[in-house]
Amino acid sequence: MANPSILILAGDGIGPEVMAEVKKIISWYGDKRGLVFDVSEDLVGGAAYDVHGKPLADETMAKAQEVDAVLLGAVGGPKYDNLDFSVKPERGLLRLRKEMDLFSNLRPAQCFDALADFSSLKKDVVAGLDIMIVRELTSGVYFGTPRGIFEENGERVGINTQRYTESEIERVARSAFELAKRRGNKVCSMEKANVMESGILWREVVQRIHDEEYPEVELSHMYADNGAMQLVRWPKQFDVIVTDNLFGDILSDCAAMLTGSLGMLPSASLGAPMENGRPKAMYEPVHGSAPDIAGQGKANPIACILSFAMALRYSFDQGDEASRLEKAIEKVLAEGVRTADLMGPEGGTAVSTVEMGAKIIEALDASL
Ligand code: NAD
Repeated sequence: MANPSILILAGDGIGPEVMAEVKKIISWYGDKRGLVFDVSEDLVGGAAYDVHGKPLADETMAKAQEVDAVLLGAVGGPKYDNLDFSVKPERGLLRLRKEMDLFSNLRPAQCFDALADFSSLKKDVVAGLDIMIVRELTSGVYFGTPRGIFEENGERVGINTQRYTESEIERVARSAFELAKRRGNKVCSMEKANVMESGILWREVVQRIHDEEYPEVELSHMYADNGAMQLVRWPKQFDVIVTDNLFGDILSDCAAMLTGSLGMLPSASLGAPMENGRPKAMYEPVHGSAPDIAGQGKANPIACILSFAMALRYSFDQGDEASRLEKAIEKVLAEGVRTADLMGPEGGTAVSTVEMGAKIIEALDASL
């Protein structure tokens, strides 16, 4: 059987710096665990614009459709801020999401014990936290029509439309229930069924998919505003949260920051299963290209490395190896190794991107 394939799109700014550490880890899995990946690399974002005059070449898009998983670094930077909207670096990312139809965005909020003091919340509220937000990514108010700014009765009116079809809700609900089965077996669905028709439909459809296909999973419903409050009050009550594009955008950022630095946050975007049964998939850190620290060896590579751990788990069915990598990171953090973004007010000596990567590989070696 052919080796599983990965397309690396490192992108701009710190993207290539953090991805260099992921590449070493991918090689480690080949050398030490016999998990050999066919890795190819290409350009996205500003790096692609510099060469092709657009943020994603058609050939790159075609490659992304064929591989088992895309790993993306980050795109954007001040050099590209004044480009026309149609060729801005972020358009490359949006094109990948849209054409691969990545409708299910997985954003874990996991608190490593060694960083529990880093949260803005009390330690006992976040220590051991492990929740997953599933955000619908390709529909809802960011895409619905009519949209635009129009003239009406002598003044301008801005319009966006929240719109969900049953099938769009069904597929993201299934994705959340499937995830819950591999975790704590609990899903909380969030919407505003009290004031929005799309929320009423959302609640009905999630409930039906539950009753017909996943009765063994515990399901609850919550209004999204209460959900935001509960996330800050007692986040450990949740396992998987499923919600729409807009609420998911906000709730996932809120939940993620419970756990500390942007440099620690991975994500996955999944689509429908391909012929080989694997979902279309793209994995990327939540952070951007961090132009303020790019080229200085200061970036924390952990978000990008944890994104690869998600790929091991969700694309390659290597949950044990994903846990091995997560534990290696946990060990390194417990030893007090920190990149600059993880330094507390007491200070200390920060390690570089490359040193953090090397420490994680040492911990992987020690796990054998
Ligand atoms: P950012 O995430 O790049 O940076 C925000 C802050 O967090 C900065 O101070 C940065 O130094 C720090 N930071 C981010 N990642 C870090 C890491 N791994 N290690 C240590 N510190 C880290 O967000 P921004 O500054 O708003 O945006 C910068 C550029 O990135 C813009 O062009 C923006 O459009 C783009 N962007 C891209 C993505 C993406 O590629 N998915 C996401 C967000 C922003």
